[in-house]
Amino acid sequence: MKDIIFFNPVFKQMIWGGNRMRAEYGYDIPGDDTGECWAVSAHAKGDCTVRGGEFDGMTLSKLWKERRDVFGNVPGEEFPLLIKIIDAKADLSIQVHPDDAYAGEHENGALGKTECWYILDCDKDAQIVVGHNAASKEELKSMIAEGRWEELIRVRPIQKGDFFQIEPGTVHAIKKGNLILETQQSSDITYRLYDYGRLQNGKPRELHIEKSIDVIRCPHEDVQTGRITKAFVGGELETLVVCQFYTVQKLTADGRFMLSQEGPFTIASVIEGEGWIDGVSVKKGDHFILPAGFGSFEVEGKMTMIVSHL
Ligand code: ZN
Repeated sequence: MKDIIFFNPVFKQMIWGGNRMRAEYGYDIPGDDTGECWAVSAHAKGDCTVRGGEFDGMTLSKLWKERRDVFGNVPGEEFPLLIKIIDAKADLSIQVHPDDAYAGEHENGALGKTECWYILDCDKDAQIVVGHNAASKEELKSMIAEGRWEELIRVRPIQKGDFFQIEPGTVHAIKKGNLILETQQSSDITYRLYDYGRLQNGKPRELHIEKSIDVIRCPHEDVQTGRITKAFVGGELETLVVCQFYTVQKLTADGRFMLSQEGPFTIASVIEGEGWIDGVSVKKGDHFILPAGFGSFEVEGKMTMIVSHL
C-alpha cells in the first residue's frame, strides 16, 4: 500500500483552552477556548475522519475495524494510540492516570494511559508539573489531606523542544503558556487530584482523590528517556522514547533522503515547515499514517515531524 492516509482533526473546547491552533496551524477551530486537537484518534469521544484518497470520509475507528491490513493486521479491539495538540492558555488540573491493570478493573475494562509530551512552543518562563515530593503513601495522604499542594507537586521550568515521558501513576499537569504535542495510549481515563480551587459555572470540577491516591507511585522517580540522534545527509532522526506502548521520534529534514518504515504502520505529524513524502506534499499541521507495507520512502523539504509507531 503506497497511499498516505491524511486525517481531519477533532477539536475540543476547554475552560483552559486558547486560539493558538488557528494562528500556528491554520486550523478552523470552533472558538477561542480550543484546548485540544485530536489529530490522529479513533477514540469514541473524538473519532477522526480520513481526508481524501480511497478511504475519504471514513472514521479511523471504522478503518481499524474493517481494514486491519492497513495497520499490518495488528491485533486489538481499539486503535491503540492517540495524537493530540494541546494549547494551554491557563493551567490544566493536577492529574494522574491509572495503568492498564487498574483501569481494566475499575473503569469497565478501559485502557490505562501512558503519555508523552513534546513541547512545540512555550512562554519564556513556562513550567510544567511532573512528579511529587512525598516519600511514601502515608506522607502523600497527609500532604493531600492538609492541602500542602505547593510542597507536594514538582514544578519544572521548560523550553521549546523538551520531551517528557509520563508513566501511569505520575502526578502531572500542563501549565499555562504551553503548546504541546502529546502521543498517548488511546484512553480518556484521568483522575483529577487538584484544580487550584477553581470554579467552573460556579462549582468546583469533580476531584478523584481516592483513585488518585490508589494509583500514584511513591516515591516519584523521573523517567530518563535518553534522546538518541542519528544524523545523515539531508536530515536527522532523534529517538525520543521507546516504551511498551509506542516509539516516538523527531524527524528533521533539510534536503532529501530515503527512510525505511519501522513498526507495522507509521503515524506522523508535521510540526514545522513543509516538504514531500514520496512526492506527496505535506505541511505544518498535517497528520497522517503511512500504512503497512509502505516500506522505504523519500523525504524531501525543510520540515520537522513527530513520528510514532507501535
Ligand atoms: Zn495526562
